[in-house]
Amino acid sequence: AERLLEVEDLHVEFRTRDGVAKVLNGVNYHVDAGETLAVLGESGSGKSVTAQTIMGILDMPPGVITGGSIRYRGEDVLAASDRRRRELRGESMAMIFQDALSALNPVYTVGFQIAEQLRMRRGMSRKEAMKQAVDLLEQVKIPNAKQRVKEYPHQFSGGMRQRAMIAMSLALDPDLLIADEPTTALDVTVQAQIMDLLDELRRERGMGLILITHDLGVVAEVADRIVVMYAGRIVESSDAYSLYKQPGHPYTEGLMRSIPRLDLKGQELETIKGLPPNLLKVPSGCPFHPRCPRAEERCSAEVPAHHNLGLGRTSACHFAEELMSRG
Ligand code: SF4
Ligand code: MG
Repeated sequence: AERLLEVEDLHVEFRTRDGVAKVLNGVNYHVDAGETLAVLGESGSGKSVTAQTIMGILDMPPGVITGGSIRYRGEDVLAASDRRRRELRGESMAMIFQDALSALNPVYTVGFQIAEQLRMRRGMSRKEAMKQAVDLLEQVKIPNAKQRVKEYPHQFSGGMRQRAMIAMSLALDPDLLIADEPTTALDVTVQAQIMDLLDELRRERGMGLILITHDLGVVAEVADRIVVMYAGRIVESSDAYSLYKQPGHPYTEGLMRSIPRLDLKGQELETIKGLPPNLLKVPSGCPFHPRCPRAEERCSAEVPAHHNLGLGRTSACHFAEELMSRG
């Protein structure tokens, strides 16, 4: 499949009054046409900052890109003009968020907001654009689309609003869709429906899909590959099947144990002890060491390299190979 996006050794800092926070410290990942990459990690791990940098919507300042590159179909987007970046947004890459209400304008109907994009950027007439808006609402399976296109965001339920935002993001037919915690605010049944919808749209359109989540359970059914982020770096990168079978990093093991399991109903979920690090003061050596149940002395002294575990898997843990063989 064609390589859509390539993020290479991306470094981003936030320069604040309290000091310099290294929010991205050498992030690498890629997405091909038609595949789903899940980007996993707790809040503050850099998942959203990476996405915002790709989209060109990172707040700068306080954000500063201090190194690395982002290529879309081979084009260096960090070197592109503002005009070219605006063009890429929507037409080539689009993004949806956890909170649809903040992405949709409350004072306009859902249909108007979709149609407005098509009129401005595709030069469609009002009538054509509205027709297309109905069509898009149907594609995201909003029942009674002809009627609903005339309604305001607050008249939609949470799940339907999420669908409307997806419809809006697809209006200009992007090849890459980035979904940042798209189901976090929804109940479990609706979550699954939205995941199914995104998966179906990805397949039908041959899009690349980046799913950003803190919940390894949510993406189990749909991810082709998974990258796990911690403290602004990738700690594990793997095809989804191998990762679920056998995590290659202690942090991924911890995330696995915190997935609710049907067969262990009523049992307390294990969570990873402690909190993600303050990025103004990242722990020495392996940044996960203060929380890691497998940590040994060298972990606080030496930054782990990315160990190659075969079949394109990598893990940034000193003991990655042992972990794999121990099972
Ligand atoms: Fe844990 Fe050490 Fe591996 Fe880091 S390098 S994940 S602290 S065992
Ligand atoms: Mg986030």
